[in-house]
Amino acid sequence: MARESTPPDDDDSATRIFRTEEELARMPASERIRYRLVASERRYHANDNISAFVRAGEVEELKAEVQAKMQEVLRALVIDTDSDHNTNETAKRVAKMYVDEVFRGRYVPMPAVTEFPNAERLNELMIVGPITVRSACSHHMCPIFGKVWIGILPNEHSNLIGLSKYARIADWIMSRPQIQEEAVTMLANELQQRVRPDGLAIVMEADHFCMHWRGVKDTDSAMVNSVMRGAFLKDANLRREFLSLLPRKHSA
Ligand SMILES: [Zn+2]
Repeated sequence: MARESTPPDDDDSATRIFRTEEELARMPASERIRYRLVASERRYHANDNISAFVRAGEVEELKAEVQAKMQEVLRALVIDTDSDHNTNETAKRVAKMYVDEVFRGRYVPMPAVTEFPNAERLNELMIVGPITVRSACSHHMCPIFGKVWIGILPNEHSNLIGLSKYARIADWIMSRPQIQEEAVTMLANELQQRVRPDGLAIVMEADHFCMHWRGVKDTDSAMVNSVMRGAFLKDANLRREFLSLLPRKHSA
């Protein structure tokens, strides 16, 4: 006997790629933002800034989502958050800390930085630092505390930025789950693009709390990374001059 063929299920939105604004509005904010990122073929790793895909009010929605999921984590850890006054508000605190503070550099655009032309035609090595930076490692979400030194060799076409702005850009990049090597490269790319110097050098020395808190429980393990570009790569004397101006590594 003849069977009627089933019409294609148009309402199964999970199998469709295109979504209307109305459908998007019904999704959790994280799914909505992810949809926009995927549609634009943009990467959204832990240390990527996704602010261009986050609309007004959505950061507050993300915080509520993280809070609800964090509550589930506490539940999975078999912690009685109802009776335990210490953990009663923990999910909310952690969500706020992640979204508004320690991972804020993922959700907000770069702080405004005014660039001004190098009117004095400065061409001497400039060193900015130490800038205190805090981050979290992507592997364990444990804190990273460290210092960054930046060496800039400007030329007459370079744009200069105010000294305090280096710290603000560094903070924006570090306020994400990071990998130290990648953080230093991201900072170098940002500064290269803005300042356009002849040479750029960055050194970061940081303490990774996942090394203290877990695993090997090593208590004296600072990690040092550097990026050298342009004149700092070609000119060993310049490189030496920069490195000699940094405080000497304390040896144990
Ligand atoms: Zn780690």
